[in-house]
Amino acid sequence: MVILYTYNNGVYINLKDVDMTTKESGHRNIYVNLTNQCPCSCTFCLRNTKEMAQSNSLWLDREPTIQEVIGEFEKYDLSKFDEIIFCGFGEPLTRLDDLLEVAKYLKDRSGNTPIRVNTNGLADLMHKKKIAPLLKDLINTVSISLNASNAEEYFRLTRNKFGIESYDAMLKFAVSCKEYVTNVVMTVVDCIGQEEIDACQDVCDTVGVPLRVRPFE
Ligand code: SF4
Repeated sequence: MVILYTYNNGVYINLKDVDMTTKESGHRNIYVNLTNQCPCSCTFCLRNTKEMAQSNSLWLDREPTIQEVIGEFEKYDLSKFDEIIFCGFGEPLTRLDDLLEVAKYLKDRSGNTPIRVNTNGLADLMHKKKIAPLLKDLINTVSISLNASNAEEYFRLTRNKFGIESYDAMLKFAVSCKEYVTNVVMTVVDCIGQEEIDACQDVCDTVGVPLRVRPFE
């Protein structure tokens, strides 16, 4: 089971397989793989291809317990890492309480290492409450997948279980995060075309959150 991993030149590497004694091992990000669960079924997500999902080493046969996640972190000197990112092959905020507990442990142990959550931004819908206040003082960055410049295209792409209203809920989540989290960004992939990227920039300007255009993997 891959709980912690890192990423280098397009390749995911189990942290266990990284030689932490070499100079090259420094300045990495740690990614935390908490869950496969997600309320979306994005057209572009590798999880949709069962074969891909099962052959991908990030696929979890069962979710790691909080103790297992902390046990993995205990093996490393966290000061050697630039950022700790809850990400993985599913939506990390589906395990909200567990994520917060691990984040608390990390802040107690290594308060200077920034923590980021990469999310679809639908956590308020998932948990039926405003969750941004819970992230205060624990999460340094929330990175939200904007995916599209309008509700119809967003719903067509994400095929999430909440319906067309999910787009506005995701934007509302971004706004509420600004109150409690230092860095809030929204992301789109670079293959959606310049016109759509510009339209997404307009959405971000309205919401007051920076847009990051990231390479499609
Ligand atoms: S939100 Fe992320 S994990 Fe969930 S289906 Fe979409 S791409 Fe996959």
